[in-house]
Amino acid sequence: MRATPQEAADALKAGALILLPTETVYGLGADAGDPKAVAAIFEAKGRPRFNPLISHVAEAAAAAEIAVFGATAQALADAFWPGPLTIVAPVRSAARVCDLARAGLDSVAIRVPAHPMARAVLAAFGGPVVAPSANRSGRPSPTTFDDALEETGFAVAAAVDGGPCQVGLESTVVSVLDGRVALLRPGAVTRAQ
Ligand code: AMP
Ligand code: MG
Repeated sequence: MRATPQEAADALKAGALILLPTETVYGLGADAGDPKAVAAIFEAKGRPRFNPLISHVAEAAAAAEIAVFGATAQALADAFWPGPLTIVAPVRSAARVCDLARAGLDSVAIRVPAHPMARAVLAAFGGPVVAPSANRSGRPSPTTFDDALEETGFAVAAAVDGGPCQVGLESTVVSVLDGRVALLRPGAVTRAQ
C-alpha cells in the first residue's frame, strides 16, 4: 500500500492520517486545521496532548501566513529552509493550525521540509500538515518506510514511501518570540550553524 503524493493529499483533505517521508524522520501527518484529525494523531501515538506539534508547509511564504515572522525569523527561514530547522513564532491564523495542534499556545512551530516527496504532498494539499515522528510515544523515530508502517501504519489511510531518511535526526527547534531567539530542542541543525 504505497500512496502517491496526490493520494496522500486527498487522504488529508478527507480528514485521514498519512505516513509522510521527510529528510529528518517519517512523520504521521494530518491536516493541521482539522481538530478531529489532529486528535487522531495524539491517539495513534499515545502522545500527551500538552505536547504541541510541528506544522509543515511547502514554502516559506505559506509559513508567513500562519505565523508572525519578524526580521529574525525571516532570516532563519531564508538561511535554513527547506531543511531541518523548526521555527516557533506567534500564531497569526489559529484557524489553519488548530488549538490542539498548538497545545493551546499562542505560538506555532513551523517548518519547510526538504524531502521532495514531502514537498509534493504539501504542495498538493495546499495547507499546513502536522507531522510528528511516526512512532508510538517513547519508541525510536522511524527513518525507513517499513519501520514507519510497523509503528503507526494501522492508523493511516495513505503511506508514502520516500526511501530512507537522509538526515535521520529530528529537526532543531528554535523560538523567535519578542525578538529573542532560544534553542528549544537540539537537532540536525547545530547551534554553531
Ligand atoms: P515533534 O515531537 O518532533 O513533533 O516536535 C514537537 C516539539 O516541538 C515539541 O515537543 C516542542 O518541543 C516543540 N514545539 C512545538 N510547538 C511549540 C510551541 N508552540 N512552542 C514551543 N515549542 C514547541
Ligand atoms: Mg518524535
